Formats: sequence, structure tokens, C-alpha cells
Amino acid sequence: MTANCPVCSGPGAVIRHLGADEIARGLNAVFGAPPPAGAVPGDYDIVRCADCALVYADPMRAGGAAFYDWLTSFPKYHAQGRWEWARIKNVLAAEARPLRLLELGAGQGDFLATLKDLPQVTAQGIDLSESSVKKAQARGLDVRRDTLEQVITKAAGTYDAVVLSHVLEHVATPGALMGAVKNLLAPKGRILFSVPYSPMSREYLQDDVMNLPPHHMTRWNIQALDGLARVLGLDLETWMPKAKAPWKRALKHTCDKVRGEGRVRGLARLPVVLANWGDFRRILADHRNRERVGGQMAADTVLVSLKKQT
Ligand SMILES: [Zn+2]
Repeated sequence: MTANCPVCSGPGAVIRHLGADEIARGLNAVFGAPPPAGAVPGDYDIVRCADCALVYADPMRAGGAAFYDWLTSFPKYHAQGRWEWARIKNVLAAEARPLRLLELGAGQGDFLATLKDLPQVTAQGIDLSESSVKKAQARGLDVRRDTLEQVITKAAGTYDAVVLSHVLEHVATPGALMGAVKNLLAPKGRILFSVPYSPMSREYLQDDVMNLPPHHMTRWNIQALDGLARVLGLDLETWMPKAKAPWKRALKHTCDKVRGEGRVRGLARLPVVLANWGDFRRILADHRNRERVGGQMAADTVLVSLKKQT
């Protein structure tokens, strides 16, 4: 029996099976080392909701401490500054009123620190990692080691903006999480969150193990985001950066396909592409056909606003 959609409860259809051995091989290829035994919780089915098109894992069993202890030991896992932080600041500034903001999963406060030049925003954050919270506090930021439930008890209905940066795709109960986050919103408040836009452009060759369980439990596109907005009764708005030109992606992905991920760079790509012209043409056509969102080619991440009408 396939699990129903974790956002809209619609029926799901299995797209494919993903074995724990396949996940471990994929992670080994990305990080150059295999995950320790037991870090990958097990096998999954990858399922698409027939109603909202959300793609999700069955079972919704996210990676645990063993998985993330291993993953976070690699420097390449950690993100630097993200384009969506600047866009969030623009959205907040455009509101032109005092705002109370909460970031869920604030980490060491890298995003909250960027808000210091918006004096009308009173920013707080929560995170479960003791060491991250201490680092954020040492930077003078209001970050606490609270759970979402604790914040709801203390401060339901009081936040004008709740920010989640690349959190939603990791959680096993996305519908329930966003329902709880909605409880934090003041009138006219909004949730601002970013997720990968799936399939990501590099997934034309094959699905990216880092965009699959036990790392990413859900895969989002505009239809699934619409479904989430409908379930929550909130107004949807989305932003994306300009996507990379199809020919640039095709150059890279042709070389990745022929020589392996990231092996050939820069001008050295040209002879590889010339020698594999048929592959290049086909991959280029795939990229040119990439989904359009709001009239522009879909990028690999999307910033989403879900706003209360009143
Ligand atoms: Zn659904």
C-alpha cells in the first residue's frame, strides 16, 4: 500500500524504487567515501501525488543523527551565502512597516546577521544545535535552542515573517510542519522559504542522490507549491534567480556524462563536446525544454512566500 501525499493527502503512484545500496553508491560518488553502515535508514519508493504532483519518499523516514554526522563532516556540504537571502530582504523592506521575524533552523545566524541593516525588522531564530546557538549568540543575535512547539506555545499569532531556508525538503511531515508554522503568523504575515526546484537541471542525466531520501524527503515544483498554498489557505508568490543558459549547462553536462561529474572544466570542455556532438545536441535540447515558471526557465532553487490574506 503506497503512502498518501504528506501535504494534500492525495493518492500516490510509485515512480521508482530506490534501494539503500543505490543511495550508498551515489553518496560515495559525490563525497569520495561510503556512508557508515546504518546511516542510510533503508530502501524507499519514490512516489508522485496524483493530486498536487509533490514527489515524496515512502516511507517518509528522514536521515538521522548518524547520517547527518557523516554528511556534515564534509566541507562541501555547507552552503555559503544564498541568492534568496538578498531577495528576502527586498521583500521585507518593501513591506515598509515594523516586522517581527523568526527563522526556523537559524544555525549560526548567517542569514539573521544579514538583517542588521534593516532596523524595522526585529529578528529572532531557533535551532536545535547547542553549538550553533552559542555561535549565533556570540555574534549578538537573538537565537535560542527552542523547538517549534515551544515557540507556538509562547508566541502564536505574533510573527510577520517566518523564514525557513532549505528546511522543508528535509522533513518527514511537511504538511504538518507548515500547518504549525502558519500558527505563528500575525495578520497579513507570511512564511518565506526556499527549496530546490525539482527536477534540478543537473538531474537530466540522472537523479541527484543529494535530492533524494534520506536527505531530501520531498521534491517540489510549482504545481506542488500551489497544492501546499491551497491546503494552508495562503496566497502563493514565487521568485527564482535567472537560470544558467542552456548551452552552458549542456557543455557541463555533456562532459559530466562522458568523463564523470566535474572531471572536465573550462576550455578543456570544448574538445570533449566536439567529439561527442550527438550527446551535446540531445542534452542541449533537453535543457531548452526545461519547465517555464512565470515565463522564465526554471532555476534550481525557488523562494516561496505563503501569505495570509488578512
Ligand atoms: Zn499532494
